[in-house]
Order: sequence, then structure tokens, then C-alpha cells
Amino acid sequence: MLRSPIKHCRNCGTAVAYRVPDDGDTRERAVCPACTTIHYENPLNVVGTIPVLEDRILLCKRNIEPRWGMWTLPAGFMELGETAAQCAARETDEEAGAQFEIGDLFSVISVPRAGQVHLFFRANLRSDRFNPGPETIEARLFSETEIPWDEIAFRTVSETLRRFFEDRRHGRFSVHALDI
Ligand SMILES: [Zn+2]
Repeated sequence: MLRSPIKHCRNCGTAVAYRVPDDGDTRERAVCPACTTIHYENPLNVVGTIPVLEDRILLCKRNIEPRWGMWTLPAGFMELGETAAQCAARETDEEAGAQFEIGDLFSVISVPRAGQVHLFFRANLRSDRFNPGPETIEARLFSETEIPWDEIAFRTVSETLRRFFEDRRHGRFSVHALDI
């Protein structure tokens, strides 16, 4: 179970039951016995940026659980009504208070055991001044040799950073799709 089970119908509030709907479905869903609403639970998107200033990358030290005190690229859950790029930009603003221009999509990483898909866009920083929000202890720039690999909060971030540096060495960036 990736998330806590749904208890009540989103439509009418009646207690739901988990069962395979009799419409040809093959998975158990939270089905409402009163109004027959079927509640589909799907993966969430986590979207962020790889903010770059010359040869350095911006990382944020997390002031929230999970992985408090570890370093991450600015990223967070997509909100309804926003695009992936808008989410990446909003999270970069909220977590780092950075000035930047959003660039191309760089990585798409499925994390099925967490029920998530992580996407990272490249971004070009306009300055080295940051104004981190409450979710961030510290926002700072790292060169490739300074990256604290043992203190990176999430594998999606370390996999993205490794591919970023590899592409940069080759002088061209492509989109990386992977599953972890
Ligand atoms: Zn209902």
C-alpha cells in the first residue's frame, strides 16, 4: 500500500469498500456502495529544476522530512491547474528564492514503489543570490567535485545529477527516461 486507504466516498461521504469493479477492471478500487463512484488512485508527479550558474549547480538543504538536512534539487508535487514547467519554476522560487530562466526537460524518472514520476527541467540562474523559503535550511552552489553525493536526499536527484554532468562533459543534453 503506497498511501493510506480511502475511507469515505469523495462524492457522497459513504464508507467505501475496496473491491475489483465489475466493469472489466483488474485492480481493487475504493468503490462506493451508495452512489457507485469508483476512486482511481494514480501516481503523483514531482517536478523540479537543475539550476545552473556557469559550472555550478544549485542544491537546497532540506528543512523538512523526509530526509531532513540532506541536499536536493528544488522540486515538489505538481498542483492541479499548473503545467510541469510551471511547477518546476514555482518550486525553485519557493525553495531557493532563485532568479532563473527555465530550460528544457532533462529527466523523467518513474518510481513505481513510491507511486511517483519525477521530472527535472534544466534552468539557467541569473544570479548567485538566493532567498530560501521555510522548507530550505540553505541554498548554495556546488561544482561537480563539491557535490555531497553521500548526502543527496533522493535517488532521483543523484541519478539526474550524474546524467547531467555526463551530458555536460559530452557537450550536449538529451532527455533521460529511466525507472528506479
Ligand atoms: Zn458515494
